[in-house]
Amino acid sequence: MFELDETQQLMQDAVRAWCERELVPAVPALETGKQLPYELLRALMTDLGLAEALVGPAERRAIKLEGGVENEPDSGESSDSGPGLGGDPMLASVLLKEICRVSPGLGMVLIASVGCGTAIQAAGGAKAIRDYAIPIFRAEKIGAWALTEPGAGSDAFGSMRTAAKPDGDGFVLNGQKTFISNAPYADIFAIYARVASGDGAGAVRAFVAERGMSGLETGPPMRKMGLHDSPTGEIFLNDCRVPAENLIGRLEAKRAADSSSTLDTLNLERTVMPAMCLGIIERCVEESVRYAVEREQFGRPIADFQGIAFKLARMELALENARNLVFKLAWAQQRGKLDARLASLAKLYCAEQAVAVSLDAIQIHGGAGYTADLPLEKLMRDAKVFEIGGGTNEIQLQTIARAITSRR
Ligand SMILES: Cc1cc2nc3c(=O)[nH]c(=O)nc-3n(C[C@H](O)[C@H](O)[C@H](O)COP(=O)(O)OP(=O)(O)OC[C@H]3O[C@@H](n4cnc5c(N)ncnc54)[C@H](O)[C@@H]3O)c2cc1C
Repeated sequence: MFELDETQQLMQDAVRAWCERELVPAVPALETGKQLPYELLRALMTDLGLAEALVGPAERRAIKLEGGVENEPDSGESSDSGPGLGGDPMLASVLLKEICRVSPGLGMVLIASVGCGTAIQAAGGAKAIRDYAIPIFRAEKIGAWALTEPGAGSDAFGSMRTAAKPDGDGFVLNGQKTFISNAPYADIFAIYARVASGDGAGAVRAFVAERGMSGLETGPPMRKMGLHDSPTGEIFLNDCRVPAENLIGRLEAKRAADSSSTLDTLNLERTVMPAMCLGIIERCVEESVRYAVEREQFGRPIADFQGIAFKLARMELALENARNLVFKLAWAQQRGKLDARLASLAKLYCAEQAVAVSLDAIQIHGGAGYTADLPLEKLMRDAKVFEIGGGTNEIQLQTIARAITSRR
């Protein structure tokens, strides 16, 4: 359980080689906005077999639904697969870890797009899966997953204002979304909205909208502290009409059950983000050990000084713990044992350590660490987002505390 098997090791080697060849040379242009990440996303998904692995289960689900199986969330393959390469969460973790050693932004672009497709696959009808999820998984279209609003962040469900009004054989969406990864360039949007009237009134549902639909506009990419290689933006909905088949899930289902695809996607975020943080931690530890052994001051390698040696030891401890949590998450996912407590523990710990370890890595590198010539300052700026997106640290703490106290 604590080692990669042969397939996972091969995957790691293949992704690392792909990143060295395709991604590393592109980082400066991505970082300055001279290049968008989407051609690289397409190449990544096709070159590494991710597209093929995701399309298979989606096709099978569409065929099942076309054969008359009721349109309800598919308990196994759909919700757990995500960017899971045909349902192996450890392979997904390895893939994301490797990408995020170089570009956490490209990792975010990938999970936002695939997360949109996954939400559609988990609870959408056959037509929505064929029209929207499969083109996303084939990397022909870019997806965005839109829950957060200007007034609804941590309390995304309770404070949601975006409304979906039933109108003939469809729905009319009005509202605004913000901080949405891929929004400025996405083709397909999974938009969460509160049903305004009729069946399911008051409940939150996802609706698929497409760029080009009347009443849907997106803002320019936001200027951010980090993740410069992951465009983030707003979505404006003004009387945007979507057909009935673009409703993801069912209207009449009760709130807790019907939001399962949303919760699947949130859990998915919480299960993939630890692996993304692990990539940052691993790279920072490797760079720091190498530098501390090579760099000499006062006639000795700086690794000989206790102040640096103890820092390295603590970074190694964080790496070991983060790796174990990522392995445990994958193990739990594969056996249907994933729960909110474990997902939040892993997300919280790995995000905190990605920030702490990247700051220590800069400190160990001194002035060189502060420059953009090394990857460390970028990794540190990028790491911070994991303490905010997918549920802030405070929300993870709340989730963990609730889970352990409700047992008593
Ligand atoms: C780069 C980036 C990409 C993103 N991508 C997406 C995306 O693709 N799709 C999407 O839907 N969203 C996305 N988000 C939004 C992200 O999920 C939210 O920013 C996050 O959930 C926090 O919401 P908020 O920013 O409104 O902060 P708020 O909820 O306003 O929180 C502000 C502060 O108050 C604290 N706080 C709030 N409630 C409590 C509480 N009960 N107890 C203790 N403290 C509390 C928070 O922890 C935080 O420190 C993205 C954000 C960023 C920065």
